[in-house]
Amino acid sequence: GRESCLVGLIGSGVGPSLSPALHQREADRHGLRYLYRLIDIDPLGLGPDGVGELVRAAARLGFDGLNITHPCKQTVIEHLDGLSEDAALLGAVNTVVFGEDGRAIGHNTDWSGFARSFARGLPDAPTGEIVLLGAGGAGAAVAHALLTVGADRLTLADTDPARAAGLAETLATRFGAARVRTVAPGGLPAAVGDADGLVHATPTGMAAHPGLPLPVELLRTGLWVAEVVYRPLETPLLAAARAAGCRTLDGGGMAVFQAADAFRLFTGREPDAEQMLTDLSDL
Ligand code: NAD
Repeated sequence: GRESCLVGLIGSGVGPSLSPALHQREADRHGLRYLYRLIDIDPLGLGPDGVGELVRAAARLGFDGLNITHPCKQTVIEHLDGLSEDAALLGAVNTVVFGEDGRAIGHNTDWSGFARSFARGLPDAPTGEIVLLGAGGAGAAVAHALLTVGADRLTLADTDPARAAGLAETLATRFGAARVRTVAPGGLPAAVGDADGLVHATPTGMAAHPGLPLPVELLRTGLWVAEVVYRPLETPLLAAARAAGCRTLDGGGMAVFQAADAFRLFTGREPDAEQMLTDLSDL
């Protein structure tokens, strides 16, 4: 690995991000000089396409890598020299690594982060039928993870039917049409009634989006519930699911494992993800 590492996070409103602390604490345990800079496009007056200019600047300034977040995970792609197979399939990049040759390669650790968190936090959870609420960026990563680890069938629900239909179409191409379907909000009771598990990937439960993303009566013993929201870690959905007797998984694991996977790509060193999970609960 390298003796020092200079990385950053590009996105809109990245100020409150926990990524700098997660990376920095892990680097400290490795005795690594590590700087994780926040690069917010808003005060720079840049839109989603401005990420290209920033990626080129970072490469020229000797950055080792970048994390990329909303709203730049798709727009960054055309500015890169190559993509991992997963990032190409997903059409989204959250991690860029600059090689010694100056080439910028895009990766996606959101999906692998969810997959690792799911395996750790809900081991042996049945994955026959899973309902996924929210077909945006996080939903796309979760769907890729669940179908990759062997879920039989996903049912996608989104208040914006076009988003659910669009994601279902790309997943059907990748994993087969039999493994994905969409459901309108009215069909949610039947879909959740038949499901082994529910993954929540909408912003509902964050401070700016209070409340529950589905009727509480749909939560029942025997249904597992995985949350993607991680600020706060304890969402109204998780509290309601636990009260209904569901096994639950919070969004912290996905956040930590995506950071751990990015740390490994940036540094070539093996992160201690369990310790990073402990760090997250202290932050
Ligand atoms: P996004 O805007 O790309 O997608 C959200 C989708 O949810 C949209 O398609 C929207 O139409 C839909 N939606 C909103 N309310 C709904 C409802 N009640 N029922 C059904 N669909 C609804 O957002 P995103 O980037 O996917 O982020 C979603 C959440 O995931 C945010 O809270 C974000 O912080 C979190 N997130 C967590 C991690 C992690 O590592 N844990 C990673 C990425 C995103």
